[in-house]
Amino acid sequence: MLLKDKVAIITGAASARGLGFATAKLFAENGAKVVIIDLNEAASISAARSLGEGHLGLAANVADEAQVQAAIGQVMAKYGRVDVLVNNAGITQPLKLMDIRRENYDAVLDVSLRGTLLMSQAVIPTMRAQKSGSIVCISSVSAQRGGGIFGGPHYSAAKAGVLGLARAMARELGPDNVRVNCITPGLIQTDITAGKLTDEMTAGILAGIPMNRLGDAVDIARAALFLGSDLSSYSTGITLDVNGGMLI
Ligand code: NAD
Repeated sequence: MLLKDKVAIITGAASARGLGFATAKLFAENGAKVVIIDLNEAASISAARSLGEGHLGLAANVADEAQVQAAIGQVMAKYGRVDVLVNNAGITQPLKLMDIRRENYDAVLDVSLRGTLLMSQAVIPTMRAQKSGSIVCISSVSAQRGGGIFGGPHYSAAKAGVLGLARAMARELGPDNVRVNCITPGLIQTDITAGKLTDEMTAGILAGIPMNRLGDAVDIARAALFLGSDLSSYSTGITLDVNGGMLI
């Protein structure tokens, strides 16, 4: 029970096969009161209910400041504290460099980067007052390798931005005992990959992964549990690679 009675908010966690929901499930199994924030209210509520009693599902676009503030207001009204925030919401667009238009850039950076900033700003006053808190940001191996299979260059930029933002937040919030860390997943089997990889593509990808398998959502959830809980009590500003050895 690594998160017993802790209040943990996870964004983009309503999709059953996604990294966010796997994290929500593992957090709930570890005693957390989980708040799922996603775009669709019914999906968020149903995902939260599937975790058992005492959890909360809310609708908010993480890139919309008013919606974020309203959601955090509801969390505070129900629980009165926030111990963990997992900034997981993100979108990909498989575009080549010269095909990126302003609307593509805005959409991808808005969710990953602005969303991470706005959600963090919304919980930081509470975490500071508590003198404790852990913020976990989901970046990507695309930020480190400068590209991936499903995200375009603007996605790499957004996820690299998350790494920089998280380190800056970690530096500023360290004195308040609020830790901020990142996870850089490799290629994980979720809706992003489901049915979209041919055998040839899979073989090509596996050739670059020493562990010779794609990741499972629970691989990321376990890393989030480590960073969200006191298991990582003296770690802040770190980037935890969960990629089967892709960068060796
Ligand atoms: P997913 O598409 O299954 O889940 C993303 C969730 O975010 C969805 O439920 C979606 O509704 C929600 N969302 C999208 N925009 C939102 C917004 N503006 N506000 C609130 N919620 C929003 O994706 P996933 O594969 O589970 O990815 C989760 C995170 O991990 C993303 O940030 C993604 O970039 C990152 N990531 C995934 C992989 C992978 O291989 N799957 C690899 C590296 C990084």
